[in-house]
Formats: sequence, C-alpha cells, structure tokens
Amino acid sequence: MIRFARHAVIAVCAAVSAAGSLAAQAFDQRAVGRAVFKELIETNTTPSVGNTTKAAELIAARFRAAGFPVADIVVIGPDETHKNLIVRIRGADRTRKPILLLAHLDVVEAERSDWSMDPFAFTERDGFYYGRGTQDVKGGAATLVTALLRMRAERFTPARDLILALTAGEEGGMPNGVEWLLANHRDLIDAEYCVNMDGGGADSENGIPIALNMQAAEKVYFDVTLTVRDKGGHSSLPRRDNAINTLARALVRISDHTFPVAFNEITRAYFLRSAAFHSAALAADLRAAATEPGDSAAIRRLSDDAWFNALMRTTCTATLLSAGHAPNALPQTATANVNCRRLPGLASDSLIRILTSVIADTSVALTILEDAPQSPPSPLRADVEAAVRAASEAIAPGLPLIPTMETGATDGLYIRNAGIPTYGLSGIAIDTDDIRSHGRDERVRIEAFERGQEFTYRLLRIISAPVTP
Ligand SMILES: [Zn+2]
Repeated sequence: MIRFARHAVIAVCAAVSAAGSLAAQAFDQRAVGRAVFKELIETNTTPSVGNTTKAAELIAARFRAAGFPVADIVVIGPDETHKNLIVRIRGADRTRKPILLLAHLDVVEAERSDWSMDPFAFTERDGFYYGRGTQDVKGGAATLVTALLRMRAERFTPARDLILALTAGEEGGMPNGVEWLLANHRDLIDAEYCVNMDGGGADSENGIPIALNMQAAEKVYFDVTLTVRDKGGHSSLPRRDNAINTLARALVRISDHTFPVAFNEITRAYFLRSAAFHSAALAADLRAAATEPGDSAAIRRLSDDAWFNALMRTTCTATLLSAGHAPNALPQTATANVNCRRLPGLASDSLIRILTSVIADTSVALTILEDAPQSPPSPLRADVEAAVRAASEAIAPGLPLIPTMETGATDGLYIRNAGIPTYGLSGIAIDTDDIRSHGRDERVRIEAFERGQEFTYRLLRIISAPVTP
C-alpha cells in the first residue's frame, strides 16, 4: 500500500439513518472494531513464521457466531498456512453481480529489536494503536469485518451479494491469495467491481483530514536484465569493447531517455482535482499539463518532480549492477537490472522494442525478469464516487475526493486484470508525514480508526442499497 503526500484543511460529523443509529446502540461498533483489530494484529501473518489461515479462522468464527450460514464462510488456499477467508453476504437480488470487498491478511516482517514495543502486541499509547499491520492493512480489514457484523446485527439485507475477501500473500514471500483465487475459484470472488482497502485512503495533517484518495489505477511492474558478455582478457591490454563500459553506456542512454507523456482518465482527474491544493504556479502547471493538448512548458517543469513525472510517463531506472571477476582482468560478464514502471496499456514487448532502440547496441542482451500483468485503469463511476462522497462525511464534511494512480502496486492489479474494476479506498486517515507501513512502530490514530470504521460502514450501506429507479 502506498499513500501520497501534499494537500489543505477541514473537522467531524454524524448523520446515520434513524434506524441505523437505533440499532447501532445494540451493536457496539467501537468495542467490536477494537476487538477485531486487536485479534488481527496479534495474529502473526508475516511470510517467515506467520499464518494467514489462523487469522482467517478467527474472523470466520466471528461470522459464524453472528449467524451467517456456515456454507457462505470459506477458508481456502493453496496450502495449510496461506489460506484466505471468503464470506458471501447474500443480497436480495441475485441477478445483480456482487461487490467484492478486499483486504490482505498478511503483513511485512517486523523485528522486535527494531521496534519500541512488541510489533505483534496491540498497543494503545498516546491516542494511537500500534502494531505491525495497523496501517497496512489490518485496520482496513477490521473496518470491513466490523461493518458487515454491524449490518447483520441491524438485520440489513444488501440489495445484492457482498463478498468479503481477506487474502494471503500480498506482501510477497508467500503464495499470492488473490492470484490463486482468480485462477482456481473465480466464482467465489467474481464481482461487478471491487473495493480494496489496500490503496488510496484518507490523508490528514496533524490528525485533521484533508483529502480522500481513491486509487483507480496502478502502474505495471517490469524488470529487465541487461547482459553484456565478452571474451575478457588481461587488464593491461584494455579494449574499447570492455563489457562494463558497454553496459555503462547502455545504462546512461536509458537514463537520458524520456518516455512520452500519456494521461489516462485517472491521472487527468488527479492533476485537475488536486491542483487546488497547491501554490498558484504549480496549480496552473497541473491544469495546463492535463488539459489537451498538454502544455509542453508545464510538462517540462512538472517532469523535474519525481512524483508528477512518474504519473505522466513510463519510467525505467537501473537498480542492480554486477560485473567482473578479478581486479586485474577484463570483465567477461556485466549485468544490470533495470526496473521499469509501465503506464497501464504499454505492452512489455513494446517496451523491450523501445529499450532496444534506445540502447542501440546489439552486444547488450535484454531479458525480461519480471513482467506483471496489465492493470487497466478502472473507470470513474458516478455511483461509486457519489457513495464515497456521502460516506466520507464520517471522516470530515466536504472532504475532497481525489482519484489516484499508484506508482507502486497492490493486489488490485490482478483483480483489474481479471476485468473487475477496482477502487482503493480506506477511511482511516493517516498524516502525510506519518506513513509507517512496512516500517517501525507502525500506528494509526484511534480517532482516525473510528472515523474510518464509520466511513466503511456507511459506504457498504450505500453501495449495497437498492437502486432507486
Ligand atoms: Zn498492503
């Protein structure tokens, strides 16, 4: 999960339906949300010694206890310790496709010695909840579970099926749950669209929410290995075709190459809607760059900023280098890894053709090391945006909604690749200077978690309400 910085300011509210607030008195959202969150944090789900099956079973037990049919609660996966939880909440209208609600159960490794406290103990301190996964993304998972339990307690029947998927293997190092589910049990998670807690999210400054990002696109991960081989020889008799020098020239050419600018619906909306958060000059550049045909001077200025540059074009950069076998020998092999982040829609073979022509040296061999599937941007839907806007009143009234393209990646890429539009949304606001996912002393504000909880509940109520003709 990746969040982005830079935005302005806003406070709090309350407005549930009369029936909702009445029933909510019987269901203690705060207590259940905290208990579910604690249970998830204290169940170690790291790739090394963790076990997502255990977390899946604990949450499954809560759904069984709440009276959901046992047949609708499935714990399933490729092996004993990497299972996923799928719960289908039956809706009134079986003719409409379900909505998928996604969060991953696994977390990144955390060493006790790196942290100020036990990363696998749910610690409450100075108005924050601490623990590995509080930001990424057990907080989001807890809000989904709690919202569905509350809807059950309120005897709310969604207009169509909702599918909760709490999955394994998002963080790498273990079999990927979403990929496995799509390949082996697509029927379990097939949906009209997906809400993914692991992407987008509310930004705050000093605890004050400033914007809600809806992640609707992701760049596509791509690693290519550059290899130069040579017969080598004695370094006292150097030649111009030294493998290291040849490789270095190729890397410099890639570094000097500027990929063309291409906006999609999401990045265009991002530039136009986020412009208001910036200085007048930057705002003017964002608007000029994103408005056809795209002002070239504005694009040039924005390209100096790594973030805006990465949103406008495919990027490729050297990340690993290895060469030679002795200080006094001409190298026989020189290799480099070049990591590219393709704009959605750029095919990997097209990118290889571009790199080959940029390098313009047949002695450099290109091999694809990692080629992630395409992840087409999800169209901005008026119904989803309206639901998110209404629900976001729980975070802060009038919170600006900003569509985003992630420069990294989440499991949303597999879901999008399968033809299911995916919207990354979390209502748990995190300060733009307090992003600790994958880091030490990961934490969320308790108040932000509770507002995020209410956001998720309202969002699910709205998107699963009957369509008014
Ligand atoms: Zn994540």
